Amino acid sequence: MIRTDIVLENFIPADVSPERPLVIAGPCSAESEEQMITTARQLSAMGIKIFRAGIWKPRTRPNSFEGHGSAALAWMKKVKQETGMYTSTEVANVKHVYEALKAGIDIIWIGARTTTNPFAVQEIADSLRGMDIPVMVKNPVSPDLELWMGAIERLYQSGIKKIAAVHRGFSSYEKSKYRNDPHWQIPIELKRRIPGLVMITDPSHICGNRTFLYEVAQQAMDLNFEGLIIETHPDPDHALSDAAQQITPVQLQELIGHIVIRAAEVRNGELRTLDEMRAEIDNIDETILRCLHKRMQISEQIGHYKKQNNIAVFQHSRWDKLLRERLETAGRLGLTPLFVEEIFKLIHEESVNRQAAIMTRQEQPH
Ligand code: PEP
Ligand code: MN
Repeated sequence: MIRTDIVLENFIPADVSPERPLVIAGPCSAESEEQMITTARQLSAMGIKIFRAGIWKPRTRPNSFEGHGSAALAWMKKVKQETGMYTSTEVANVKHVYEALKAGIDIIWIGARTTTNPFAVQEIADSLRGMDIPVMVKNPVSPDLELWMGAIERLYQSGIKKIAAVHRGFSSYEKSKYRNDPHWQIPIELKRRIPGLVMITDPSHICGNRTFLYEVAQQAMDLNFEGLIIETHPDPDHALSDAAQQITPVQLQELIGHIVIRAAEVRNGELRTLDEMRAEIDNIDETILRCLHKRMQISEQIGHYKKQNNIAVFQHSRWDKLLRERLETAGRLGLTPLFVEEIFKLIHEESVNRQAAIMTRQEQPH
């Protein structure tokens, strides 16, 4: 089912410019009235129209700052009165929805941990039935497109038409330069399935630090996504949550100033832009490299096993079988056999070299 009524014009308030990037900014958490107003004033002066702040904070471990809860709703009201900004916050249960709506919050979002749980999403969706409020759905913590889709569908089936997806990256076991790996192919596929869907990238939670915020924000724009949600704090280093990834409003202004918006034209009837396809290629190459890294690690483990058990590094029969199977798979996928054979010869050679190095390495005396 293509949901033709989930579109940008439906999602954003009428007086917010549809120009990219649509920016949502504000602190990770509402910490005090002063922090909220100071941040909002600076953001508003920069022309930013939508303010974010977490009031109920889902924290991984107890005894961290869990937000001021309902008390902070009054600060949100103040932000609205003083600056005219639209306010947004995270809701994780029916009580949050009720309190947020009562306090006049303009946009709500479902956080990554909640999107993971269909029971929780359904309860929120049921509580919103018949309401006319924009809802942002963050991707689930795990790289699971169907869960993300499911949460959007639950809201849609409750009659919510003002929906945006927030791409905040995905948790992964493997170490990477990101706090949450962007796995760009997942939001790209979501947008392919729901073409009008407003895609907002959250570089703050993807990066977990300030270093790559710009790079991730620019990538999102190159993929034709509509918006960015970026955590902004007057004194980031002393923030009560996510201190490492927040930036000041001035730094945000600089970041936005450097973003290049490239034409999103459609070439030769091809639905995706050149930048989108290149970003996908970049993604795939990174996956190839990670797989190679993993393959070499396992190969080295095998090397240690062979050494302990006095098995020779190279077995002809194994290599013959491996190459035959890879070429069969390559044939099924329509890949040129010679090309695949060359690649696997190189990979195999590297594996053998690594194992041979393990065999000849002298154990250090303890
Ligand atoms: C947040 O936006 O403050 C937040 C808690 O994000 P996420 O749900 O993406 O972890
Ligand atoms: Mn945060």
